[in-house]
Amino acid sequence: MALKYKRILLKLSGEALMGNLEYGIDPDFVNELCDEIKDIYEIGVQVAIVIGGGNIFRGVQGTKVGMDRATADYMGMLATVMNALALQDVLEKKEVPTRVMTAIEMRQIAEPYIRRRAIRHLEKGRVVIFAAGTGSPFFTTDTTGALRAAEIKADVLIKATKVDGIYDKDPNKYLDAKLLKEVKYLDAINQDLRVMDHTALTLCMENNLPIAVFNIKERGNLRKFVFGEEIGSIVK
Ligand code: UDP
Repeated sequence: MALKYKRILLKLSGEALMGNLEYGIDPDFVNELCDEIKDIYEIGVQVAIVIGGGNIFRGVQGTKVGMDRATADYMGMLATVMNALALQDVLEKKEVPTRVMTAIEMRQIAEPYIRRRAIRHLEKGRVVIFAAGTGSPFFTTDTTGALRAAEIKADVLIKATKVDGIYDKDPNKYLDAKLLKEVKYLDAINQDLRVMDHTALTLCMENNLPIAVFNIKERGNLRKFVFGEEIGSIVK
């Protein structure tokens, strides 16, 4: 079987690392997630990851207690670096070579983000983990996912979720929520389908970058997807 997607950008939210916990990082869940990543790495898929920070800190949390938005956002970006290091540690224990690249320089712990270097790492078979978001406050890691995917010319941006894809309404609240297999960018924006924030969606639309949304908790989904099986939803 031939690969359909050779270079992917996987957007993992901080919550994805929480597993069933209320806060922080669930080691068992991260372990399973990294097995999935290793699976596709081993069949030659070039894997780049953008990691969020919501399991530790979000800028809006800070503003709620009176912090300056930009300062709080920098804290959020730092949270993503912690997650990136946790992910790196687990992947490397599984003998998957990785590089963490940060949008804010912190050379003692990771490489600074340089686009051409990131591409080179991918070509050499290293999983690249992008941390510290875009490096600018007022953005999200979803937007970072869209931006980095466009920069490295990924074939697809994968938004890993805990539900099976995009629904017409919240499947956790409504039993009759319908899974939408294919969604147009503009519909995702106008109908506020909560795939990603509007900045991220617009960036993907302008760059014709498809967004795949599926359940990362289901074993084997990532592998099936890169081989072209239709799972979850696709925005294009
Ligand atoms: N953040 C930011 N600029 C960016 C990316 C992230 O300021 O380019 C901050 C923002 O405060 C955000 C936090 O980092 O709330 C964590 O990222 P995000 O909420 O996107 O994480 P996720 O929801 O994916 O876990």
